[in-house]
Amino acid sequence: MSDDWRRLEDRKFTEVARRDEAGNLHCPNCNGTQFEAVRSTARKVLFGVASLLAPADEVRCITCGQKFKRG
Ligand SMILES: [Zn+2]
Repeated sequence: MSDDWRRLEDRKFTEVARRDEAGNLHCPNCNGTQFEAVRSTARKVLFGVASLLAPADEVRCITCGQKFKRG
């Protein structure tokens, strides 16, 4: 039974991301370097319209779709 992906999702992006010599962050899954900030579904449900004003709290790898907590 493997839930590694889930544990990865619950960890902070800055803790799991790999940093290369140039200081660029890489996805620990696919080594991708393109990410986008997203809001968590849970927050949308809890706060409704207010979530539209809240800052994004997750980072998603564009290449493989893996999500991470921000910060
Ligand atoms: Zn990735």
